Amino acid sequence: MEENKNTKEIIILGGGLAGLSAGYVLTKAGIKVKVFESDSVVGGLSKTIVHNGFRFDLGGHRFFTKDRGLNDFIKTLMGEELISVPRKSKIYMRNKYFDYPLKPLNAIFGLGISTTIEILLDYAAEKIKNLTRGHRNISLEDWVVSNFGRKMFNIYFREYSEKVWGIDCSMISAEWVAQRIRGLSLASAVKNAFFKLSAKDVPSLVDIFLYPQLGIGRISDRLKEDIESASGGGDNSVLTGARVERINHSDFKVESVEVKGGRGDLSVMPGEEFISSIPITNLVNMLHPAPPENILTAASQLRFRDLVIAAVMINRKRVTDQTWIYIPEQKIPFGRLHEPTNWSEKMAPEGRTILVAEFFSFKGDGIWSKSDEELTAITVENLENMGFIKKHEVIDSVVVRVPNAYPLFEVGYKGLCDKIYEYLGRFKNLHITGRSGMFRYYNMDHAIESGIKTAENIIKVNR
Ligand SMILES: Cc1cc2nc3c(=O)[nH]c(=O)nc-3n(C[C@H](O)[C@H](O)[C@H](O)COP(=O)(O)OP(=O)(O)OC[C@H]3O[C@@H](n4cnc5c(N)ncnc54)[C@H](O)[C@@H]3O)c2cc1C
Repeated sequence: MEENKNTKEIIILGGGLAGLSAGYVLTKAGIKVKVFESDSVVGGLSKTIVHNGFRFDLGGHRFFTKDRGLNDFIKTLMGEELISVPRKSKIYMRNKYFDYPLKPLNAIFGLGISTTIEILLDYAAEKIKNLTRGHRNISLEDWVVSNFGRKMFNIYFREYSEKVWGIDCSMISAEWVAQRIRGLSLASAVKNAFFKLSAKDVPSLVDIFLYPQLGIGRISDRLKEDIESASGGGDNSVLTGARVERINHSDFKVESVEVKGGRGDLSVMPGEEFISSIPITNLVNMLHPAPPENILTAASQLRFRDLVIAAVMINRKRVTDQTWIYIPEQKIPFGRLHEPTNWSEKMAPEGRTILVAEFFSFKGDGIWSKSDEELTAITVENLENMGFIKKHEVIDSVVVRVPNAYPLFEVGYKGLCDKIYEYLGRFKNLHITGRSGMFRYYNMDHAIESGIKTAENIIKVNR
């Protein structure tokens, strides 16, 4: 086992957006960092897969932030690589398209007048109930029913949410949904249809966004390039194919991490400060000596939802004009579809396109365990049944399994997280950051922001 003698470094676990953003800020301040990323490329959930001239994200990634400083950070980092993309999304249901986010005229009249009347009466009844009883929103179901009415919940929310999360809506914590569709109630959707609220009022309605023309993974590539070239290069490194396997500590101070490289060689890397953006549940299990039993139990009760991506390459210029298509129906096994060439023409060779289907899954379940050939065949068959493609147009395919895609916010998750945060908070030099690192529903902007803040705190304390 090789030992690195330099103890002044900051060690970063995970080369996704949070870990790399932290590394970027630290190197700009002249501090030496080493980032360890287990995958063969950087980017984590925000990477772009490149295959025979085609490119695709793990589910189309739209960058959006209300924070001007962060927007400038990305613009400066990416320069001319960024293009503006119009957002166009639909829900595909009952062989029809509905607007997404929901627009009431389409949502209501697409379903026929009697269903519409039921939706409105149900919504009114729910609003009256909310005034007369003290309503407690514990689950996603409680939250949506109290904001939209039960009929809307049954039609638009139940199937999709249960497909995404793989558990009953009454088991999904309301804290998640309140953050996710904050500001979107039937009332605000009606107001938007008639008075067009500004994006500032309802962030999820923003209809133009910035996108790197070679895919979202370019943001992580650029962060890596800048980390490695800071102060002439050489001092800072971002190592891919480097899996952190153990975190050695004593007296609530981390001393080193043990890292397995691509060739199976193991190194012990000491450091001053340690930033972790790897799943918090894995971090807890890597601590050596192990944490107390109640912390290990809490970590074992937190779950992630995993994802399987099936990309099919099509011998046609374009199939849809949409950014995303949401597919709630259970009989279609994937939940979302996107066509990367609608994001940037550079995502496929001239005259060809690509469709990317997202299957929400749990590691080891029926979907996860199918062979790549089976998953491709299922994807192609469904795309053909939906009227998008003909089987003979498919010229290539790629399947990617994505572990830990979404922290799963089951009712009660917060208490478990608080226990783990309190324990990890006792470490003097261990900082958790990022989406799976903190078990938070962070989008890219928040993941980047959390990495930047973590770095700034370390700089402040060490100044
Ligand atoms: C399907 C999907 C669609 C999304 N769409 C959008 C969108 O449109 N807009 C948006 O803003 N956000 C979107 N997001 C969210 C976005 O992907 C995340 O917020 C962001 O990528 C999180 O970055 P992170 O660095 O915190 O975590 P991660 O990307 O999870 O990074 C953690 C890294 O740690 C590495 N790692 C794990 N274990 C180890 C180990 N033992 N040793 C070394 N390395 C390790 C992982 O390989 C990974 O690279 C989407 C997410 C998903 C799943």
